[in-house]
Amino acid sequence: MTTYNPYDNMLTVLEEAGTRLGMSRNDYITLCSPERELLVSVPVVMDDGRTEVFRGYRVQHSSTRGPCKGGVRFHPKVDLDEVKALAAWMTWKCAVVNIPYGGAKGGICVEPSKLSKNEVMRMTKRYVAQILPIIGPEKDIPAPDVNTDGQVMAWMMDAFSMLKGYAVPAVVTGKPLEIGGSLGRFEATGRGIVFTLLNYLRKTGQKAQGKTAAVQGFGNVGSVGAKLMLAEGIAIVAVNDIDGTLYNPTGINIEQAIAYAGEHNRSLKGYSEPGLLTITPEEFWTLPVDILFPAALESQINGSNAGAVQAKIILEGANGPTTVEADKILEEKGVAVIPDILANAGGVVVSYFEWVQNLESFAWEEEDINSKLSKVMARAFNDVWQVSEEHKVPMRMAAYMVALSRVVKAKKLRGVFP
Ligand code: NAD
Repeated sequence: MTTYNPYDNMLTVLEEAGTRLGMSRNDYITLCSPERELLVSVPVVMDDGRTEVFRGYRVQHSSTRGPCKGGVRFHPKVDLDEVKALAAWMTWKCAVVNIPYGGAKGGICVEPSKLSKNEVMRMTKRYVAQILPIIGPEKDIPAPDVNTDGQVMAWMMDAFSMLKGYAVPAVVTGKPLEIGGSLGRFEATGRGIVFTLLNYLRKTGQKAQGKTAAVQGFGNVGSVGAKLMLAEGIAIVAVNDIDGTLYNPTGINIEQAIAYAGEHNRSLKGYSEPGLLTITPEEFWTLPVDILFPAALESQINGSNAGAVQAKIILEGANGPTTVEADKILEEKGVAVIPDILANAGGVVVSYFEWVQNLESFAWEEEDINSKLSKVMARAFNDVWQVSEEHKVPMRMAAYMVALSRVVKAKKLRGVFP
């Protein structure tokens, strides 16, 4: 298997989309490199008095269609190429769902579980100080991603507000409700994923009821998505997370598993229920299920396991979980890949709603938020499906084509500065 670089992966798909749209490279050359890449050092005084210095990143891929938007990840594998790819995927995602944002992403190379809560707080606040010149409600609005949550967003909002001298809730989204968060934001990514799955099943004449699914990653996206799939009659038969892989052919009790993880530091280690088996992570990808739902990290479905996939649908909760190599194998096998930049866009859509609510200082009802989300996801699905049918391309290519044509049109209207 070749060495995987997520940014090159993104560029490969982008270039094919440009060619299929009949564009010349000059039409999208400015989108092949991020507008801004900021590398910062983040010194933290640890609880034992030592100072540790972490490496932090914020990449703004494009602000053509509006302020940049994208999450912040705390993970030991964070590096510049990963953050660049994640930032570009945000540009395409915001364009697919047609919200007025560009794309950005940030992160710190750190294993946060090895830090105390106070150390994570100091690291977060110092990171904000380091990236301060380039973020803000009109510039770039961070949000949660892997290993960051509402609490981390609250610390980010506090640091930004303290440095400005007044409260600025709209600088981040995914905040707790008490400081300007939005109803429905915590569930938004999982909810949007299930809306998209249902849109796909309806379009292809299938029913959710009675289907089986396997989920990788039992964090925000994976656990909420699993719970909402179960509510549609889909049995979640396997969960793969860093502590192991659980398999119950008759369906895992998801509510119980979520409650257990909540009480055990987000881990399923030691979880048990009748009929539960343990399998290897390799076996997970080849389970005889209808739907594989990767909701952890990039490059999980790749050249080494795609050939053995038995599922008929890959529902991408994570960003970039399938490599270009795997995409080709899956296409040949007739597996439908519902791509990340469409499927998991519900999070950024409700983040957009949160930002709008903050800017107008007015909180919307949850019912209203979910119904607006459903409409945005349905429209995006139909746009992608139409291009997929017209051009006879898989949904990922169609989603990139929808996104690229929207961003390039905006770019042409604005022109290259000066
Ligand atoms: P999270 O931190 O809440 O959960 C991630 C989960 O994945 C954790 O349970 C972790 O233990 C598990 N995990 C990490 N590495 C793993 C591995 N190698 N094998 C198996 N499990 C592993 O993060 P999240 O917010 O749920 O994000 C998950 C994915 O969804 C990421 O790709 C993220 O970029 C994407 N995403 C998140 C949002 C959002 O709103 N949070 C929106 C769109 C996309």
